[in-house]
Amino acid sequence: MILGVLFALLISNFEWGKQFVIDWIKPFGTIFINALKLIAVPLILASLIKGVSDLKDISKLSKIGGRTLFTFIFTTVIAVSIGLVIVNIINPGKTISEETRNQLVESYSNVVNKKIEAAVVQSETGPLQFLEDIVPSNIFAAATDNSQMLQVIFFAILFGIGLILIPEEKSKPVKAFFDGFNEVILKLIDLIMLAAPLGVFALLAALVVEAPNSDLFIALMWYSISVLSGLLLMIGFYVMMVKVFTKKSPKFFLQGIAPAQLLAFSTSSSAATLPVTMECVEEHLGVDNEVSSFVLPVGATINMDGTSLYQAVAAVFIAQAFGMDLSLTAQLGIIVTATLASIGSAAVPGAGMVMLVIVLAQAGIPEAGLALIFAVDRPLDMCRTTVNVSGDAMVSMIIAKSVGKLGNPHIKNWDDNYNA
Ligand code: ASP
Repeated sequence: MILGVLFALLISNFEWGKQFVIDWIKPFGTIFINALKLIAVPLILASLIKGVSDLKDISKLSKIGGRTLFTFIFTTVIAVSIGLVIVNIINPGKTISEETRNQLVESYSNVVNKKIEAAVVQSETGPLQFLEDIVPSNIFAAATDNSQMLQVIFFAILFGIGLILIPEEKSKPVKAFFDGFNEVILKLIDLIMLAAPLGVFALLAALVVEAPNSDLFIALMWYSISVLSGLLLMIGFYVMMVKVFTKKSPKFFLQGIAPAQLLAFSTSSSAATLPVTMECVEEHLGVDNEVSSFVLPVGATINMDGTSLYQAVAAVFIAQAFGMDLSLTAQLGIIVTATLASIGSAAVPGAGMVMLVIVLAQAGIPEAGLALIFAVDRPLDMCRTTVNVSGDAMVSMIIAKSVGKLGNPHIKNWDDNYNA
């Protein structure tokens, strides 16, 4: 990461530098992300089918499922509330002059219109549309579309339940197949990760040469500080939850999840990071595959604490910048809409910003305000994705503990050193 940034800073001094990075370096970053995404659907299928069928009875599945969903919603509401408190204390929107505001709205109005159009498609649907969307009418069609992860998850869970319900002599060969399939996918992840240093170098270099000029960053400094301090508090909250519920130290948790956090930071995509999150959670944090194979894919798609926190801060920031004072009821409304919007956000770069349009519309804040935050969205996206991934890992540990599935005999010093 550091080399990528330095390289980009150095080469941008030459006139041809920027184009060189875009033409010859950036593609390696894209290839790396593609390779990770390539694994996501097969990984969900194999590991979830294996995970669910290993549960042996349905009541265990509903226990894990119920607790997981409850914890996801609980942490998201905490995230939005932290965001709202911080933005009301720092008041970043009041630091933006009217001149800067108009400049930003003008220069970003084109890109913003595209985001608004994308969001209109999402919001023009009925209240139960999201349920309809979870059930695919064709599993192959669902599996060919990376934005339909929930459909693949639904199919895999259903398939796993089917496997539990049929006689063992019939289910055995099918299970053995998916066990082997799962092993192959895990091996592929190892192979792809060999290219991580190069991929991450390329991603960061491309990001730096394509970044807008630094004046904008200064204008948006207080907004960025609000989001970042909220995200930091969330990490503190996770560490505390881990300590309280599993008695594991902050160092144990943060060290174990660090590879996934770094990858989330470089790729800005929870979905692309999923394979590595899974490996970290199982091999470093000691969560049994039965739990992680369910909690993590579902979490990557619906549990986005960082995204919901950012949406809350951004909505209030934009309102402040436009001189609107949001009432308490309007802010309480944001808790609900930001929670739902983060659930609906796809686990890909920039998705949180598209769904932010819906939060703005509900609260009566001008959507053109998106232009204000556009310039710094990518770096903040990197940070919020890191939090999203950490939140999934934390929940998987807590759920695993609650069903007696935490503690991997292969982890060195599980009981002593790390427990300090
Ligand atoms: N990039 C985020 C993720 O993949 C979603 C977002 O907030 O844009 O988790």
